[in-house]
Amino acid sequence: MAKHDVLLLNANYEPLNVCNIRRAVGLLLMGKAEVVTESGRSLNTSGGELLVPSIVRMRYQVRRPIPQLRLSRHSILARDNYTCQYCGSTKDLTIDHVIPRWVGGPGTWENLVTCCRKCNLKKGDKTPQQAGMKLRKVPKRPHYVPYLSLPKYLRALEREDWSEFLPQFSEFRQIGQTVS
Ligand SMILES: [Zn+2]
Repeated sequence: MAKHDVLLLNANYEPLNVCNIRRAVGLLLMGKAEVVTESGRSLNTSGGELLVPSIVRMRYQVRRPIPQLRLSRHSILARDNYTCQYCGSTKDLTIDHVIPRWVGGPGTWENLVTCCRKCNLKKGDKTPQQAGMKLRKVPKRPHYVPYLSLPKYLRALEREDWSEFLPQFSEFRQIGQTVS
């Protein structure tokens, strides 16, 4: 995440977005937002020195429909910390249907896991029990922050100065260090 990225909070202090410095400064200049935390850095601009905010907050509550967390290959990989859920490998990752498709295993949060190609071959069209393999944890729909996309949320976790305003969910606790 770019070091000048700014966490944008709603008026009630809920995370609303991660935006670049230009957008944040625009909101400040228009009087729509206020600075919550400075980053301690400054930028030289044509208008003089500019203190870079780290967190800004909207002066009014932004109302939007709450988006749903989309089930996708990327969100399964992110939820599983880019780690094979059978052997722990982080290479050659693919997605596995825990209960195979041919016996009606659905494409859901609860039945899709990150899996390396080696384990995928070994497991084949069997269930984990039949293949003698064990999942490291039970796959679930992850918690999430409504307005931040999952990748944005995961990147935002890398910012220590934002942690106060980001809810931390146990399934993502180590992801912050590994997602680049
Ligand atoms: Zn594996």
